[in-house]
Amino acid sequence: MKTVTISRRAADRLRGGHPWVYRSDIIHADALEPGEGVLVQEQGRKRSAALGVGFSSTESLLAVRLASRKVQPLDREFLRGRLVAALELRTRAYGGPQEAFRWVHGEADGIPGLVVDVFGSAVTVQVLAQGTARLQDEILSLIDELRAPSTLVLRNDVPVRQKEGLPLDKRVVKGTETSVRYREGGIALTIDLLGGQKTGTFLDQRDNHVLAGTLGTGRALDCFSGDGGFALQLARRCQSVKAVDQSAPAAERIAQNARDNALGNVEAVAANAFDLLREESDRGVTYDVIVLDPPAFAKGKHNLEPALRGYKELNLRALKMLSPGGMLVTCSCSQPVDATMLLEVVQAAAADAGKDLQVLMRRGAGPDHPVKVGFPESDYLKCFFLRVMG
Ligand code: SAH
Repeated sequence: MKTVTISRRAADRLRGGHPWVYRSDIIHADALEPGEGVLVQEQGRKRSAALGVGFSSTESLLAVRLASRKVQPLDREFLRGRLVAALELRTRAYGGPQEAFRWVHGEADGIPGLVVDVFGSAVTVQVLAQGTARLQDEILSLIDELRAPSTLVLRNDVPVRQKEGLPLDKRVVKGTETSVRYREGGIALTIDLLGGQKTGTFLDQRDNHVLAGTLGTGRALDCFSGDGGFALQLARRCQSVKAVDQSAPAAERIAQNARDNALGNVEAVAANAFDLLREESDRGVTYDVIVLDPPAFAKGKHNLEPALRGYKELNLRALKMLSPGGMLVTCSCSQPVDATMLLEVVQAAAADAGKDLQVLMRRGAGPDHPVKVGFPESDYLKCFFLRVMG
């Protein structure tokens, strides 16, 4: 195996659990093929004291992603071990098999640059780095061997692949049926594996959807509703639910899913949620439950300030519209915005709205999206369940 030698500072970061070696951390590297497995060694220390093995990239600023602290070949057997361990973890964490879950969450499951999602009898795969791209055929064949999905879809259509010099590619690898149905809590969801967002839909909020459903009452508004995970659960208990998403196909899927579940109290609107919140709060409309689950406003520390202003505006509008005793489910999937920052923004919004709030629950993504300790990039989703005190 070829070797990459890195600085002491970078080695400390890797020892602390952060799996990325930046190009600027490299002291010396052998000539490498795109995605080749490499031994990572610290400057001034022996090969026998290597930090581990990782996937290299010839294009990305992330020059190596550490895959294992053990020195081992990054081959089919390595992948099999990781895939089996990740599957076992999900089964244990949920106390049994689930219909839909994230099977592999990249670095946090020890397979850097790989996302695998299970939706009933279908599996979607997203390959995000040169290392996993090099092993893509092995990965697809192992998934087929371990789970035998009826449909296997590649969702390699994410722009971040371009940073790795990888082409965008979206296709069905196995099967023909790309519309799949699975249950989340008591709701049947039909999603579109090719046309849906990300890997088909959003799985990270699954447990929060179900929890919101148990707390729903009165009139609810689900902003940035995606395929309606929150809206449909809320509709089981609420008198009425309005779901707002700027994506027209998403709004259509919500309407269809509401019909499939015989929920006649869901209205799905394709609109800009900022505009709708502004217009309705100016008109004095009120709700008993509001969900705010916007896309990531902060992509990095560079645009943290405008992102925080965006969260403040949303939360202020929502708080103005919530009735006494009402519930706010407010989320952020911006990695640089941590839970403390989000709560500070909500507090500032509550001060402006002249309301007191109780935190009922602080949550993140489910255990099928584990957070790797020492790797804050994997801790992206924050979700607060708050109650407006009467
Ligand atoms: N709440 C969803 C996930 C939402 S992800 C769930 O739990 O599954 C963010 C969503 O915001 C995406 O569906 C995207 O289409 C939508 N979106 C982005 N900008 C928007 C805007 N300005 N107004 C309304 N929806 C928007």
